Amino acid sequence: MTIRPIRYLGDPALRLPARRVRVVDDGIRRLIEDMIESMEQAQGVGLAAPQIGVGLRVVVLGLPGERPFALINPEVTRRSGERQPEGEGCLSVPGYRGTPTRSVRVAVRALDERGDPVEIEAENDLLAQALEHEVDHVNGVLYVDRLGAEGRLTKLEGADWSAEDGARGGGAAAAGGS
Ligand code: ZN
Repeated sequence: MTIRPIRYLGDPALRLPARRVRVVDDGIRRLIEDMIESMEQAQGVGLAAPQIGVGLRVVVLGLPGERPFALINPEVTRRSGERQPEGEGCLSVPGYRGTPTRSVRVAVRALDERGDPVEIEAENDLLAQALEHEVDHVNGVLYVDRLGAEGRLTKLEGADWSAEDGARGGGAAAAGGS
């Protein structure tokens, strides 16, 4: 397994819609292993392949206390309701937290790492939020795009990162992002 460097806001890789995976093979499974390793090292709860510069529709999720898992070609099939969870973060926007508009209920269809179809439903929790966040990533969308008129973006104490120079901020500031 290899820890891959994470791309930051301003990197064009984050803005390109990723390509569908045609065959779930060992190459994809190696990518997933690297992504899980990279996510855990960065203390994130999710990571999408474009965040490490790979333009494929692959995401991993690692919620606190749960076994990390991968979703390939994830698609939101149903969403309903609206909420603004507190303090969403992103490993590609270190040092900031925001309040994007998210759905209350989310259903996602995807393939697992064996290539078998899976469907996940979540409601009003971190999983629901992370699913929308990661599917956004493979579409080239970042949470800062979803702040809306009432959303806020807050710089965390001690963070020295800015969108202008893309330099790395404090490691702890990135914790909990995805
Ligand atoms: Zn993110």
